[in-house]
Amino acid sequence: MIPYGHQQIDPLDIEAVVNVLKTDWLTQGPKVEEFESALATYCGVKYAVVVSNGTAALHAAYVAAGLNTGDEFITSPLTFVATANAGLWQGAKPVFVDVDERDGNINPSLIEEKITKKTKLIAPIDYTGRPVDFEAIRRIADKHNLLIVEDACQALGAIYRGKKIGSLSDLTVFSFHPVKTIATGEGGAILTDREDLYKKMKVFVTHGITKKDFVYPSHGEWYFEMQMLGMNYRLTDLQCALGISQLSRIDTFLARRRSIVAKYNEAFKGPDAISVPPPERDGEESAWHLYVMRLADRLVLKRAHIFKKLREAGIGVQVHHMPAYLHPYYQSLGFSRGLCPVAEAFYDSIISLPLYPGLEDSEQDYVISKVKEVLTSV
Ligand SMILES: *Cc1c(COP(=O)(O)O)cnc(C)c1O
Repeated sequence: MIPYGHQQIDPLDIEAVVNVLKTDWLTQGPKVEEFESALATYCGVKYAVVVSNGTAALHAAYVAAGLNTGDEFITSPLTFVATANAGLWQGAKPVFVDVDERDGNINPSLIEEKITKKTKLIAPIDYTGRPVDFEAIRRIADKHNLLIVEDACQALGAIYRGKKIGSLSDLTVFSFHPVKTIATGEGGAILTDREDLYKKMKVFVTHGITKKDFVYPSHGEWYFEMQMLGMNYRLTDLQCALGISQLSRIDTFLARRRSIVAKYNEAFKGPDAISVPPPERDGEESAWHLYVMRLADRLVLKRAHIFKKLREAGIGVQVHHMPAYLHPYYQSLGFSRGLCPVAEAFYDSIISLPLYPGLEDSEQDYVISKVKEVLTSV
């Protein structure tokens, strides 16, 4: 099966991890700060906190943003469920705003009508790695005094008006799951320019414990304090070494993804059975995490059949994503179908094709020919 996404591990990655195994640290050694500073430098931002996965990163970001019981946060339904789940863990309520028909990103013109006195923050998602309409969202956030926690789990390496994703929002969250831009097994990070938010997250992700800035007088050199209720969301030195090594090759990964996308777009030009992802705006670069093709209206009811045929041909197609609130758990909370009609129609029409740096030309040729074959047979 040709998967839809896959990590790209080379001998230097393996060497980096093995080298850590020969040191005294398996976790919380020098690689942690080295990875944090490499990420911050890459994104052009002051601070990074690495954590055990993207979901933990979202949770830490929400905590730092002060999201709490009774609060609301605005987000997009066209995402992996973790974006909303992490806020539920804080006792807050996700308020889903429908997406833009063009690219599946949150539609900024629908945000303001959903803002209430309880709204604490806006959590947009760079869907498929494509930057959201950041300036529009920033205008709304500033007007209503809200923080922006950007779920950029799919968008490490993306660029918005000449600036790297990670350097724009109050807090930006990344994931290093194997299918994302770079891999650490499980892994994630939060980036910010704000020292206060950075410090809070650093404490939160290690049990709420700190070894400096004490509230009480120190009892001696062993002394540490638990100052808030935290989690153990630490990333290991082994994973950080892999992350550093992966990040050093990110430009190659992004370029290869871009060329695969260009080849798909070229191959699928013409016939109206499917539409391909819209071109990037001026000054914008997608990280091209996913290649999502959309079926024409007349084929939407045949999506399951088309999907099955492609799987039978050995192509690991996927669907990203079912609107979060359509899951049974969210339905049990009272969210119902019809809430975000554009996202629902989007979901009904999409299929993700294989896209990752190691996809061979011959494999892509095969995918293209099978997609064309299946589409003409339905
Ligand atoms: C992958 C992903 C996450 C979760 O990241 P994990 O590292 O798997 O916890 C959250 N949000 C989005 C949009 C994602 O794509």
